Amino acid sequence: MGDDMKNEATGEKQRKVGVYICYCGGNISDHVYVEKVRESVEKMPLVSVARTNMFMCSDPGQEMIMEDLKSGAVDRVVVASCAPSLHQTTFRNAVKRAGFNPYIYEHANIREHVSWVHNGDSATEKAARLVSAAVAKANLLEPLEPIRVDAIAHAAVIGGGMAGMKAATDLADKGVKVTIIEKSPFLGGNVAKLDRLAPSNTKAADLLTSLATNVLANPLITVHSCSTVQSYEGYVGNFKLGIKKCPPDTGTDKDGCSRNVTSGMKTGAYIPFAGVLPDAPPSSEENITIDAGVIILATGFKPYTPRNGEYGYSDYPEVITLPELIQLMATGKNSGDRLVVNGREIRSMAMIHCVGSRHIPGIHTEDEAGNLNEYCSRTCCAATLNAANNIKEAHPGTSIYEFYRDIRTYGRGQEELYSRASKNKVVFIRFEADAGPEVTSKEAPGDYPLLVRAKDTLTFGEEVAVPVDLVVLATGMEPAAISDLVTMMKLPVGADRFLQEVHPKLRPVELPKAGIYLAGTCQAPMDTGEVSNAAGAAAAKAASLLGKGHVDLDPFVASVDADKCKGTGECVKACLVEGALGMADYETEDGEKKQIARVEPAMCTGCGACVAVCPDNAIDISGWTLEQYEAMVDWIVADIK
Ligand code: SF4
Ligand code: SF4
Repeated sequence: MGDDMKNEATGEKQRKVGVYICYCGGNISDHVYVEKVRESVEKMPLVSVARTNMFMCSDPGQEMIMEDLKSGAVDRVVVASCAPSLHQTTFRNAVKRAGFNPYIYEHANIREHVSWVHNGDSATEKAARLVSAAVAKANLLEPLEPIRVDAIAHAAVIGGGMAGMKAATDLADKGVKVTIIEKSPFLGGNVAKLDRLAPSNTKAADLLTSLATNVLANPLITVHSCSTVQSYEGYVGNFKLGIKKCPPDTGTDKDGCSRNVTSGMKTGAYIPFAGVLPDAPPSSEENITIDAGVIILATGFKPYTPRNGEYGYSDYPEVITLPELIQLMATGKNSGDRLVVNGREIRSMAMIHCVGSRHIPGIHTEDEAGNLNEYCSRTCCAATLNAANNIKEAHPGTSIYEFYRDIRTYGRGQEELYSRASKNKVVFIRFEADAGPEVTSKEAPGDYPLLVRAKDTLTFGEEVAVPVDLVVLATGMEPAAISDLVTMMKLPVGADRFLQEVHPKLRPVELPKAGIYLAGTCQAPMDTGEVSNAAGAAAAKAASLLGKGHVDLDPFVASVDADKCKGTGECVKACLVEGALGMADYETEDGEKKQIARVEPAMCTGCGACVAVCPDNAIDISGWTLEQYEAMVDWIVADIK
């Protein structure tokens, strides 16, 4: 649609570019003189219309663009606003709704690249230059078609914990075939090591048994236990995973690959319950390949192991972690006025929060790899309070002292755990990170094995010393040891070393690589409710992608000009993506046979490495051509007013 205009002087095709500049409710206009930018670009001969709006992404903002397209006032669109990752799709869709090809649209980021990092006249000038460059590029944009690839109606879920099982059952409920790849011999992951789950006090076994029963009974779901991903290739719609299946005793999992024949669980590490054993593992190593349209990562977390000597851990047998206490309580017989742990009656116990979480540089010590866990593990406050309440309500004769930095009972039903603990006469002692509690056997009175000392900030630093029979460390979550997978699949990892989504609000379960989703604690510390939500979201995203039977990919990939290509193969050497670029036979119209570069569009990432090395300028990126770059650069350095 839209009539092509010719430049009178050059005779070249000239577009009618519409420019739409956003105030972003002050986010941009507080530092960029938006009307001045509009006046500046309005003078460009390519610009037919230049408008501003308080929120260009709002319905009125989008309608303004659509009206101009429909009326024929413009045939190319530039929006200057926030980062394209936020609203590029919004505006492309608006262009499409107006009946135009969505790729006649160009985006200028004048928020993150300008108003958030500059101010004064320089901000306005930079915004004007970026918008001018976008106009120059828009003038050269041609309609493009998305690359359509078939999608295999099969999902691979890596990890058979709660997130993996929830994602798998949700997908199977929508008719999608699923394969779960689980490294240990059974389903359930870390939740299988727990008893009562905060805040609802639900039995972990009940929750997992119900999920695992559904997984194992569903004919659409296949589970490979004792299995790890060894190779990965492909693209959205067509992934290929190489899987190694191990017999349980030689297992791949340091943590749990020794199957106890009676309970199915590794004694002492998991709380046994029925219904979580998948297929019989192989008697010898086996390698299989799985073809999948989407991949859901549900690789979970690693519980923090306190360092030797941290709050007396490994120095004193009476210092244990909260998961260890939960296992001892769940598997032991305990009904008296006082809790009994390892045969010892607990008169008084200390629970220390934030162990392995909320590290502060300069105060806490890095691990061998130089890492600090600066994040809050989010679940340990509620889990500690839940355990304290369960102990106080079953064994009122046991005194409990909670040593905490902050109580972060943030979710629904969690604050109630804190109120209940107060009513249960749990004593709270607040310490500062740089003056954390000291656990010692020295000076412990009577037959108490340990003394816990701290400065209580609630009483202005008063020294408290509590004799205890048991110290329980509320250990946090760490990223799971999946560096092999991260390297193999080139997965993005955040500063906290958990896998990182594209955007926490707009694309919270997606990775930049299309067709790969995140479910649960591989992404961040979460409680079981949050895990369930995240896994459900990942499954919904995956199912909607597979439901169409095909995937439309952006067309910004390399394309080869067969006439110009002399077959030097320089581009193939430069390409970093295996399978994206190769050499192929080609016959010209005159019947001449030659070898030229050939792109596999579904594999190409559009990085442009090939463009940079081609001696004949025979390869270019659709939608980001060299000609378009040159036009942009000309306007970046132009003398603008
Ligand atoms: Fe500390 Fe509580 Fe956060 Fe856990 S949830 S790291 S105990 S503040
Ligand atoms: Fe390979 Fe990048 Fe060129 Fe695509 S754009 S063919 S990924 S070098």
